[in-house]
Amino acid sequence: MSNLRKNTNLLVEEKPLFGLSSADLVGLMERLGQRPYRATQLHQALYRQRITSLDQATTLSQALRDTLTAEGYILGLPEIVQTARSVDGTERYLIRMADGETVETVWMPDGDGGERGDGSQAAEEEEVEDSEVRAGKSAAGFPYRRSTICVSSQVGCAVNCQFCLTAKLGIRRNLTAGEIAGQVAAVLNRHNVELGSTRGNYSPARINLVFMGMGEPFLNFANFMAAVRLLTHMPIPESRMTVSTSGILPGILDFAKEPIRPKLAVSLNASNDQIRESIMPITRKWNIAALLDAIATIPLRTREWITFEYVLLGGINDSLQHADELIALVSGTRSKINLIVWNAGPNMPFHEPPQSGVLAFQKRIMAAGIPAYIRRPRGRDIYAACGQLKRTVEAPAALIEIAPSSVSA
Ligand code: SAH
Ligand code: SF4
Repeated sequence: MSNLRKNTNLLVEEKPLFGLSSADLVGLMERLGQRPYRATQLHQALYRQRITSLDQATTLSQALRDTLTAEGYILGLPEIVQTARSVDGTERYLIRMADGETVETVWMPDGDGGERGDGSQAAEEEEVEDSEVRAGKSAAGFPYRRSTICVSSQVGCAVNCQFCLTAKLGIRRNLTAGEIAGQVAAVLNRHNVELGSTRGNYSPARINLVFMGMGEPFLNFANFMAAVRLLTHMPIPESRMTVSTSGILPGILDFAKEPIRPKLAVSLNASNDQIRESIMPITRKWNIAALLDAIATIPLRTREWITFEYVLLGGINDSLQHADELIALVSGTRSKINLIVWNAGPNMPFHEPPQSGVLAFQKRIMAAGIPAYIRRPRGRDIYAACGQLKRTVEAPAALIEIAPSSVSA
């Protein structure tokens, strides 16, 4: 993955700074004979200031920046190389890593993907705040906006869910912590978002992250969690992050022990093992009962729910009988259901359920006292919706632009 670069007649390995933890940076500065506060300054420049070149780290002396460069250090921030914009405002980015591999990241202004509209207390509070802003009653002295970024965790995916386009890629490699957090930094820079301050285009608390892009985060667990920790320094509170897993048991058990962790969404997608096996072969390794047992080990915080995602596939898992089975499965867990109407992909043997069926399915679950929400599809026209991420340039050419390095929102 590392690149070699010719540097004063020597070949040195290029090493990204973005992605290093504060402990890593302290170690680096020690090795370079620098005082520890230099590590803090560099940490701030990387994650708070979100510098886009090492030259911008002006709190460090020129000599120190030169030393870092001579040692092969580069900033190593992933780069947006292509953008597609949907009629609904969603933007899908093709983001390139240092070795040329690419992933997709999605920006959903005023959108959710897992948070808003999900019935959580946070979403309800946001509704009230928003109406106050509309009525001009908000104390906020800055533009009051919200956005959700959908982040990828791997290049491709190994899990092979039959209804998902990302699965068609197979797995190419894991992303590093810097590459996961770097997608967020690149997108925030593009939209001129200043976190942790009241300047800029977005309120500090208004950026939500969903780890629901390409890949299975819990098959890249250590890097994923390291990225979460970096992101909290930007700062984005972990309470504004949701990670979705297809049900990787060891990952869920490790996740349960993490002191700082996002909220959890689990892609259940079927009401019994037989159906789940046919659409998610991973069920043969860990069945639904084992999955629910693992989820039960997670110590839920106040006002925290587990979200069960359920992709509705017409004629496969969308009958009222399936709804009843689903209710029986989840009623032992403090949970809510996020219904996702299947987003079509080419040559896939599924079809969208009729809208009346979707509404009836939701109603049945709600009647059992379990909150159920229908996820609004975002960016379908540019293949940015759930399960459509495939490093694609299949969107109509007119929607694709080669991204300028930065534009304001
Ligand atoms: N790999 C993780 C996170 C990424 S997928 C996981 O599977 O949970 C995010 C969500 O999109 C999952 O709930 C998945 O079931 C759903 N999904 C995948 N393909 C889809 C499709 N074609 N239409 C609708 N939802 C889909
Ligand atoms: Fe991977 Fe999630 Fe797609 Fe399944 S739904 S193949 S786990 S990205």
